[in-house]
This record gives sequence, structure tokens and C-alpha cells, in this order.
Amino acid sequence: MTYSLTWDLDTLFPGGIHSPALQAKITWIKTTTATTGDLLDRWDVTSDAPAFQQFKKLITQLQKVAAGLDQASLFVTAIGSADIANPAVAPLTNQLQTLDTQLQAVSDKLKKVLVQVPDDQFTQLCAQPQLKPIAFTLTEMRDAGKELLDDKTEALIGQLNLDGKAAWSAHYDSLVATVNVPFHRPDGTPVTLSAGQADNTLLGHADAQYRADLLPAWEQAWTDKEQLFADTLNHLAGFRLTEYRAHGVRDFMRAPLKDNRMSAATLKSIWRVVADNKQVLLNYLDRKAALLGKRHAGWQDVEAPLTIPGAKQRQFSFDQAAAFIIQHYGEFSPKMAALAKKAFTNRWIEAEDRPGKAPGGWMESAPETNESRIFMTFTGSPNDVATLAHELGHAFHSSVLADLPYFRQNYAMNVAETASTFGELIVADANVRAATSPAEKITLLNAKLTNPVAMFLNIRARFLFEPRFYQLRQQKLVTPAELNELMLNAQKEAFGHDLSTYSPHLWASKLHFYIDDLSFYNFPYVFGYLFSLGIYARAQQSDNFEDQYIALLRDTANLSTEDLAQKHLGVDLTQPDFWLAGVDLIKKDVAEFMRLTDPLVHPTTPA
Ligand SMILES: [Zn+2]
Repeated sequence: MTYSLTWDLDTLFPGGIHSPALQAKITWIKTTTATTGDLLDRWDVTSDAPAFQQFKKLITQLQKVAAGLDQASLFVTAIGSADIANPAVAPLTNQLQTLDTQLQAVSDKLKKVLVQVPDDQFTQLCAQPQLKPIAFTLTEMRDAGKELLDDKTEALIGQLNLDGKAAWSAHYDSLVATVNVPFHRPDGTPVTLSAGQADNTLLGHADAQYRADLLPAWEQAWTDKEQLFADTLNHLAGFRLTEYRAHGVRDFMRAPLKDNRMSAATLKSIWRVVADNKQVLLNYLDRKAALLGKRHAGWQDVEAPLTIPGAKQRQFSFDQAAAFIIQHYGEFSPKMAALAKKAFTNRWIEAEDRPGKAPGGWMESAPETNESRIFMTFTGSPNDVATLAHELGHAFHSSVLADLPYFRQNYAMNVAETASTFGELIVADANVRAATSPAEKITLLNAKLTNPVAMFLNIRARFLFEPRFYQLRQQKLVTPAELNELMLNAQKEAFGHDLSTYSPHLWASKLHFYIDDLSFYNFPYVFGYLFSLGIYARAQQSDNFEDQYIALLRDTANLSTEDLAQKHLGVDLTQPDFWLAGVDLIKKDVAEFMRLTDPLVHPTTPA
């Protein structure tokens, strides 16, 4: 089988960025948003009862517009990611953002209209066979409506946001594009790296000396522009805090928890489990340092690959990667395997390694055609195979929801990262099992352990930093020096003061702090990782795992996270037990890594 490394976007909109079908869709979104708004203005619940025909019509239209906007946004994002220099992308993105703001205004209006519907009529409405499947979202909207200000003010906030929070977020990207990292390679050759290149090399270069030399140059590059980044972060957060205050909200954790349909008690139990169990990962880092000939690992070593004598890194062709994923997905779920095959065959994936592409990887669904698209750069490493499996896990999640109403497909980030991490785990485990020598197994286990290290230590540090920053930002503008200090302390705390170097400018270099539509873009990853580990632990014991897993995924936009876990797994997420089952899997991997590397650090110890 030969699969294409480039995607086909023509089934979304034929004809590329200037597609007439895209233009027609944009026009349609604009007019339909307006007519839906009109329908809503004229809607009277009492005269619409008991059949609620008008309401059904407007809610159907609203979902159609939202799906159309997703479809168009995916298309434009896809073209922009695959060709970052394409000048037609930015104006279209801006146009779609404006449409999104208009749609948001209608959606806000609906939320407030629902507040006006008396309880008994609302119950009656939600009991309608056509509306029952989306009753959870309608209830959520009605609750959210209680916190909204008058229409005019909400619309004004939405419009100001385009030049406020959203603008600061976009400004961050422009700033990052100006960051250059000049430094001298260990052999003395001078080189200038872009921020993206330097980030990849800093964390991923095989030569420890190269990484150690790059870290100070990296920090210096961010130091040179730290005031610009501090301004951006302060104003983005400041806009957000003002928005919260206008709505009478004092707790800046309220929105991120709500976005993830998750309770503070669950978050607390996750961080407790992380704090109680991080030592095993610190032991792993100490061993890694010993293998690098150091007493303590530095920041730049934490995610680094290991060069073990005798280990040859397995390289995959794209076709081999596809076959590997399809085979190992199939061991857990034939339906997951079938979806992966469909994604490769129908060219849903852009994976070619060529210049001019954006960094990173993502999956977005195309709700109008029940498809997905995956973006990444495939270089043939086992890590890339795991990334591909991660994004295909997201695509599987979307595919099992495709027949449900749009509102039922609107799952949150924490459960999104569950499906993806699950897909990734299957393949990372298979990779380790397929190792042909202990040396190769060590390098693969090391690669696999970068995930829990990221979750338990790195992302933990980001989460320790972020609320402290917001706390301070509520009182004043936070200076670069204060931001550096907050970050350094958070990293020391998360890593148990165990590293020899840190990255105090992570608050500037990490994009996740600058995302406008979601705040606290950190804990949902940890949730998703631990939740998928728990599911993975169960999958290995269960006979009808596939059905159970799909049933759980189909409810991800239909229940609170706690109810989802209770209904489909029978567990209480506010208690540590379920999370600890996942931690046991990490401990097993670390134990195996320690056993295999022991002869390398204690060469004289008899076996
Ligand atoms: Zn993901």
C-alpha cells in the first residue's frame, strides 16, 4: 500500500484558498446567522408550545451554521498551516473570526432567552424527542445565560475582544516570528535559529553539549524581548480579568473549569496524585543524568533522546507507520483501526517533511462531511509515529460522534486529550514491545517517559506559575523580573529542586500561555493523560472494551466529566483510586527503564 503524505482538501471546498464554494459558504453563514438571530427575536415560548416547531427550526439552523463555520475554519487553517507564507490566509481568518463573533452574539442571545423560559416549559421543551439529545447543552446554555449582561454590552465585549484578547494572542505569534537565537555550535560554527527551530533542538538534540550550549543563548533571546512579551501577557490576562469582573466573577479558575466541565475537587485530586507520585519520575531523571555522565539533569536534558551504545533508532517510512498504527489499533479496537485506514486512504493527513510548513501537529474535524484533517511533519522517528497515532486518536473520537447533533460533538479539551493520548499509548507501547535489543528498548522507553515527565513535572510547573501570575495581575502589571522569578520558583518546586538548569523565560517561550479562547491551557492535558491511562489499564482486562470505550466517547459532550466517569467507568474522579491505576503503568515503565539501564551506570555490579 502506498499512502500519500499530502492531504486532499478538495472534498472540503474544491479549488484551493480562492474556492468559490468557500466564498458561497461564507455568504451563507453570514445570512443564516442573521436570520437565526431574527427567528430568535421573534420567538415566543408560550405560543410555540407544546410542539416548539419554531424553536426546533432555530436550534437546527444554529447548529448548521456552527458546523459550517467549523468546516470553513478548518479549511483556511489547513491551508495556512501547510503554507505559512500564503498571503490569502490572514484576511480570510479575520473574516471568519468576525463571523464567529456574530454567531457568538446570537448564541449569547439564545442563552439569555432560555433564562426567561419558565422551568416547567423548559422541562417540556427538553423532553421533545428532537431536543432530548441536546438537553445537556441547552441546560448548560441556560445556566450560562444567567451570568450574561445585556445584549448590547455582550456584543460590545465580543467586538472589543477582536482588538483585545484575540489581538494580543495574534500579536504574540508576530512577536515570536521576530525571535532569533544566535549561538555557536560546540564545534565553533556560528548559527542563527528561529524560535521554533531552537525549541526543537534545545529539547530534542542528541548531543548533550549542544543542548547545554544552546540553553543560555535561548534564554538570552527571550530576555532581549522580555518587556514585549510581558506586555502581551499582562494585557491578555488583564482583558480576561476585566471581562470576568464585568460578569461578577472573581475566581479566575471558574471559566477554565467550566470550559472543561470539571470540578475543582477533581482538579485537586489530580494534582495531589501528581505531587505524591512525582518522585518516581525524578528518580528516572537522575538515572538519565547518570547516563549522560552528570550528577543532575538540566532543563535541556529532561525531554532529550538518549544515545545508548548499540541502539539503532528504528526509522519508519510513512507506509510502515500507517501499517504499524492500523495493526496495533486493531488489537484494541477494529473500529479504531478502520478509521485510521480510512484517514490514510482518503488523504486526511498532511505529513510531508518540507519547508514552509507550520510547526506542531493538530487534528480538526470537518462536521459537514463527517471527515477530519490531521496536520504534522513526519520524519520517520518512532516519536512521529506516536504523534500520528495521537492525532488519529482525536480523529476517532470525532468519528464516533459524527451521527450525533452538532452540540453533542462539542467535547471539551480534557476529554479530547483522553482519546488522543489513548491512541498514542497503544502505539508507544507497541513500539517498546517491538524493540529488538535492550539498548533499543531503553531509547524507546525513554521516549515514552517524556510524556509522564511533561505531565507530572513540566506542565505541573506551568500550572503552579499561572494562578500565581493571575493573582498578581489582579493587583498590578507584572514585570518581566517578577515573571521570571515566578516561573523559576514554579519549576524548582515542580522538579523538586532536582535540576541543574531551568528555563525562567518559559512564560514567554510557551505559546500555551497566550491562547485567547481558552485559559489555563495546561491541566486538561494532565487530565487527558491520566484519564486515558486509567482507561488503558481497564482495556487490558475487559472483554467488550471497544463498545464501552465508544459509549464513553459518545457521551463526552453530554455529561459533566465526573458524571461521565461515574456512568461509564463507575469511578469517583474526586478520589485518588482511579488515577493511581494509571500511575501504576508509569511506575512499571520507570522500573523497566531502571532495570535495563542499571548495568550501564554500575558496570562492575555482577548480574
Ligand atoms: Zn491532542
